[in-house]
Amino acid sequence: MKEIKLFINGAFKTSEKSFISENPANSEAVAKVFIPSEKDIDDAVDAAEAAFYSSEWRGMDQIKRAEILEAISEKMKERRNELTELEIADSGSCVRKAKADVHNAASYFKVLAGQLRKFQFETKDESATRAGFSHNYKIYEPVGVCAQIIPWNFPLVMAAWKIGPVIASGCTTVLKSAQETPVTASILAEILNEVGLPKGVVNIVTGGAKEGEYLLQNKKVRKVAFTGSTSVGKKIMQSAGQNLQRISLELGGKSANIVLADADLSIAVDGALYAFLYHSGQACDSGTRLFVDQKIYPAFKDALIKRIADVKVGIPTDTGTGYGPVVNKKQFETIMNYIEVSKKEGAKLLFGGERATGGDLDKGYYIRPTLFEVTPENTIFNEEIFGPVLAITPFSTDEEVVKLANKSVYGLAGAVWSKNPDHAKKIARQLEAGTVWINEYHLLNPGMPFGGYKQSGLGREMGEEGLKAYLEVKHLWISDCDERSKKPWFDAIF
Ligand code: NAD
Repeated sequence: MKEIKLFINGAFKTSEKSFISENPANSEAVAKVFIPSEKDIDDAVDAAEAAFYSSEWRGMDQIKRAEILEAISEKMKERRNELTELEIADSGSCVRKAKADVHNAASYFKVLAGQLRKFQFETKDESATRAGFSHNYKIYEPVGVCAQIIPWNFPLVMAAWKIGPVIASGCTTVLKSAQETPVTASILAEILNEVGLPKGVVNIVTGGAKEGEYLLQNKKVRKVAFTGSTSVGKKIMQSAGQNLQRISLELGGKSANIVLADADLSIAVDGALYAFLYHSGQACDSGTRLFVDQKIYPAFKDALIKRIADVKVGIPTDTGTGYGPVVNKKQFETIMNYIEVSKKEGAKLLFGGERATGGDLDKGYYIRPTLFEVTPENTIFNEEIFGPVLAITPFSTDEEVVKLANKSVYGLAGAVWSKNPDHAKKIARQLEAGTVWINEYHLLNPGMPFGGYKQSGLGREMGEEGLKAYLEVKHLWISDCDERSKKPWFDAIF
């Protein structure tokens, strides 16, 4: 069986505590996973600190770091089959989703390398500079040792989004993968060694809340980057406050997907299903609140119910499968509980609402894609489920739908479907969300920022904003007043 060891200072090591991770599709063992002790976590942070101050890493220029990012991307492509198979077994991702994840993670490193090659770590600010008085520069410098914590839903992509900017910025890190899905981050660790990343720059351990909390308390950690639930994000923000650590939070969502009366139904129906069923609903940006214009509501609802029956539920390794299991028993029970609550509250069940069974499905945690017609009072209108459950609500006017869409503590993403781009854009601009698509869903561009408004997070990943989140900015003042007589302000103390 595969062993997932701790990756500390460029070496793989075992620990006293371990467990056997399971495949969510059939409960078969995937790997023996080693959990770090407190000392292991301290060692990882020490290694990250030593690497941060090493002349090898500090002295490495941005072109060389970009080359490392490109080499990681290439190695990931070389090992794409292995990464895909492991991601499927570890996380229950369907084969097409897992392939896309490997491709997207590899592409991200490549795009980031391109950004890094162009990024100006030192710029002269001409507007602040006054000839004969001062020259003023902005110098961007790495924040330092980072602690990064990721969730289980897109294990490889999440690891890439964290490790990429660490290398690009010249920071160092201890990344804690999710205990539910630690396998592909460990392959990434092997790749980091293969491409010659100096040891200690990236250290990877796994574990749960206990290990995460312990890591964040280390006073050598200067920046925390967390992706996960809003409830844990709030705790992390409090803990980061103790040492005023820099912080990036990518949290939960309850994104609004708005279908206007003039939408092209031949794509909007499939788009609405794709928005909430991708990865069995376990995507942070899922369009889980669907708003449909009253004028087309009955026809749209009928089309949705008809089309959802075509979603291919099956085992993740089957290339024909579009929709697989949820990650584990706990998540399965959480989702089923939300379904029961909705039924009790009187939300109208339009489709699904039960376990998917029969043949191989009996071995895993499968839930039928589920549609409910709801009002804003229903629990599932407001709370993130992180599963394949859609809350549908009709609306009558633009003002009403904007109000309904923004009636959420979250603000991660959203979409508008319309044949009129100006109308769609007018609504998109009013949505309180970090990413809004028009006639599209889920697609991300690594050159553009991703993150949340309101309780969906703080800061951005990807794009220039994502790189700057790992940099401090220094104002460098070079005086032009090179004679004592040109510095009358010194006289203030005489
Ligand atoms: P979670 O918050 O339970 O756990 C996330 C990570 O934090 C895991 O590695 C976990 O071990 C760790 N953790 C848990 N408690 C901790 C604590 N007290 N201190 C330190 N670390 C702790 O989330 P999850 O169930 O793994 O993932 C699902 C959530 O992640 C959803 O809310 C989803 O929306 C969110 N998510 C957000 C994004 C985004 O980019 N905004 C992306 C993916 C997932």
